[in-house]
Amino acid sequence: MGLCDIQEIKETLARHGFRFSKSLGQNFLTAQWVPERIAAQCGADAKSRVLEIGPGMGCLTRELAKTAAQVAAVELDRALFPVLEETLADCENVEIIHGDVLKIDLAALCQQKFAGQTVYACANLPYYITTPAISALLESHAFAGITVMVQKEVAQRICASAGSSDYSAFSVYVQYHAAVEVLFDVPAGCFIPQPKVDSAVIRLTPRQVPAVTVQDEKLFFAIVRAAFNQRRKTLANAVMPAFGGRLDKAEVLCLLEECGLDVRVRGERLSLTEFGELADKCHMLLNTKEQQHTNGNE
Ligand code: SAM
Repeated sequence: MGLCDIQEIKETLARHGFRFSKSLGQNFLTAQWVPERIAAQCGADAKSRVLEIGPGMGCLTRELAKTAAQVAAVELDRALFPVLEETLADCENVEIIHGDVLKIDLAALCQQKFAGQTVYACANLPYYITTPAISALLESHAFAGITVMVQKEVAQRICASAGSSDYSAFSVYVQYHAAVEVLFDVPAGCFIPQPKVDSAVIRLTPRQVPAVTVQDEKLFFAIVRAAFNQRRKTLANAVMPAFGGRLDKAEVLCLLEECGLDVRVRGERLSLTEFGELADKCHMLLNTKEQQHTNGNE
């Protein structure tokens, strides 16, 4: 059975009385080369386990089941379960789990299903949960590799380098946790129903240690978010909200100079290392001031 054949898709879904849900981001693949390439390039081999998000009708699940030892696939839409029972009837190494990927404890699920094994995550992600789903996958620390299809613009943003117009707080966040690469583009015509935008498949390889070592991760990301929240402002002006009044602008300008940065620089030009260095200097100054304050009150 051709799980990417449009006629087959329509007939199978009609037989089960299934209707696509726009709100669940249901755009199913109609180009067989796409799940084949995802399965071939996700890093999994015959010994690996794979967690898939959103199997839909099962075209990617099927390819993953051929590549890996075991596949667990989390699907939110119960209406797809009878469809998957039919389309994956001969795949003995696949288990479909009902649930919302954003509400599941992914580390616990991987531990429960694949204790002690190398696990990869794969998905043709529904667009509406791209950012939280990628964050949940990264923060679970459960995967050796994460290969996902996302909107092409999002793929470019995730993989963007410092200084480019696509570089964003989410680029810094993902690149802090993982090495990133765009594998290939997937035109909008490869789906039913056809979305308005093209897609791309990206591979994230989670790092054992973050790309930069910082003293205070919360402060690092507060500075990064503030820098991109007002990306047209100079960095010194944009980051002030990150300090909640605990540093003044003159102090921040001094710290920028100490980091060898132009005081008029914009946040979008800073590499992860430069953001890390700035965050550590801010952290040190905040600590010193707090210490002085405590001593003064004694
Ligand atoms: N993998 C199939 C394919 O490539 O043809 C379907 C991909 S479709 C873009 C996204 C799938 O994710 C749908 O099956 C949808 O029902 C499911 N889904 C949507 N939201 C979800 C969530 N929060 N948790 C788990 N699955 C979800």
